[in-house]
Amino acid sequence: SKRIAVMTSGGDSPGMSAAVRAVVRQTLASGCVSYAIYEGYQGLVDGGDMIKEMQWEDVRGWISEGGTLIGTARCKAFMERPGRLTAANNMIERGIDALVICGGDGSLTGADKFRAEWPSLLDELVSSGKRTEEAVKPYRHLNIVGLVGSIDNDLSGTDATIGCYSSLQRICQAIDYIDSTAFSHQRAFVVEVMGRHCGWLALMAGVSCGADFVFCPENPPSENWESEMCSIVRKHRELGKRKTIVIVAEGAHDRNLNHISPTMVKDLLTNKVGLDTRVTTLGHVQRGGPPCAYDRMLATLQGVEAVKAVLDSTPETPSPVICIVENKIVRKDLMEAIRLTKEAAANIEKKDFAAALKGRDAEFEE
Ligand code: ADP
Repeated sequence: SKRIAVMTSGGDSPGMSAAVRAVVRQTLASGCVSYAIYEGYQGLVDGGDMIKEMQWEDVRGWISEGGTLIGTARCKAFMERPGRLTAANNMIERGIDALVICGGDGSLTGADKFRAEWPSLLDELVSSGKRTEEAVKPYRHLNIVGLVGSIDNDLSGTDATIGCYSSLQRICQAIDYIDSTAFSHQRAFVVEVMGRHCGWLALMAGVSCGADFVFCPENPPSENWESEMCSIVRKHRELGKRKTIVIVAEGAHDRNLNHISPTMVKDLLTNKVGLDTRVTTLGHVQRGGPPCAYDRMLATLQGVEAVKAVLDSTPETPSPVICIVENKIVRKDLMEAIRLTKEAAANIEKKDFAAALKGRDAEFEE
């Protein structure tokens, strides 16, 4: 029976443990052998105890746990071929030739590279005398399936990534708390949220909390944003608003790609609008804690689909990534999704913001 390993890699997100639980249990329910690889690619390179056979009860209760209980890491060794050769050897040792990886675009890129290299890695294991031809023969084709775990919701081709709605919920709660003080003292708060190149968290938090102004990387403000923001905030105050909330994505910038920092915004609100202004950087609170119901559901349905995709896979099918589009769990071409994601980031760098925004919603053929 097939041996299917699951791993989490890159930045953690709420729902990763729920995804691992779903993959382990669907693997067992399909009559296959389940493995978990601890600490991301580092565990694959280190082998030994880091690759553990999993039973049904090993993942009990994991659906509601924050972060990832099998650990995650950034692994330099896996970036180089010798590291991946060691990883391949550790997998062959246990007869694992199917890998479900829950991570961001970096982790999934590494996975696809591993799959492309796999036949030549096996050849090298044989030619160097580490494994015999008979030993590697049953494992000629490596199966890779991606699950997207990220709070940023930064993968093109899927409506939501595992963790993004938990993070959004956390941000909204935090802003609700800040609102109390803002209202009481008639203050302004500049709130910095995570999201790197992707403004989804900032924008959705702005909508969900009724923010006065939002800065996100794909849609930078106009050239004269300073006076524009100040006049909008002034207008809201004139209409009787007692509080001001401005949300700044960590990757925010103007149309010339000059970084817009929370401190810059604070100084404007203080000096030009005359508001008592504070900065709150939410930081890792946004990544922590139990997953919300949506992320549990998404992680579970996608984890099940990932195992089905492994069992359907042939050497000819490209590696899939499991997405959700208009409420349906679907498989898409992993490398195509990553290409579009990178293209959106590159379009921001090229100051083609219209294309960057369009890329976020890009649909492409499966
Ligand atoms: P994320 O998956 O959240 O985008 P990273 O980009 O840090 O996070 O990637 C996590 C890990 O995936 C890296 O530490 C490395 O081990 C592996 N990885 C990333 N990119 C590659 C690549 N191009 N080739 C091989 N491994 C990679």
